[in-house]
Amino acid sequence: MPTVCCVPNCHSNRSRYGPYVSVFRFPTNDKVKSYWEKAIGNDFKANSSSRICIEHFEDKYVCGTRTNSRLLLKRSAVPTLFMPKLIFEEPYFSFEYLSENYKQFIIDKDYYANVTDDLICFYKIDFSAVPTITSSVKIFKNMEFEILKHDKTLPENLNVEFTKINEKEQLLYLLQNLKAFEEGKEITKK
Ligand SMILES: [Zn+2]
Repeated sequence: MPTVCCVPNCHSNRSRYGPYVSVFRFPTNDKVKSYWEKAIGNDFKANSSSRICIEHFEDKYVCGTRTNSRLLLKRSAVPTLFMPKLIFEEPYFSFEYLSENYKQFIIDKDYYANVTDDLICFYKIDFSAVPTITSSVKIFKNMEFEILKHDKTLPENLNVEFTKINEKEQLLYLLQNLKAFEEGKEITKK
């Protein structure tokens, strides 16, 4: 008997004549795991034999092609397709998540972004004379960050009370205030 999927009304792997689809264990990260459970609803609690099949994951969460028999999920993966409950929140704001979704943070036409395997950089270019990067936010793999004016790191007394970016709002706050940081202005917090 192949491993079945614990999502209610999902028929994957339930017929011995049907095709076999990949199934996945619940994540070890408690926060992400709780999102998977919430998506099933009814206070579902996963145990070590609980699995969710590939049919519930969007392509953006899957590494490799679906035809591959040994599929892997990205760490930020959450089941969003054919689930009893809708999940509106992303499980956590990780480097992987940001690498995939950085475009939604280009909040101004002067902003640009560059993404590599271990660095994400948002920067502003001034095109008025020789195009110059005026300021940037560099985000490292552990989500620590640096704010730079041209190529100099700005001092730490920038009214920023966090050292890691754990939420979308923190990154938006940095990007929205980049100009003020650059000019050394006092920033009024909401
Ligand atoms: Zn399923």
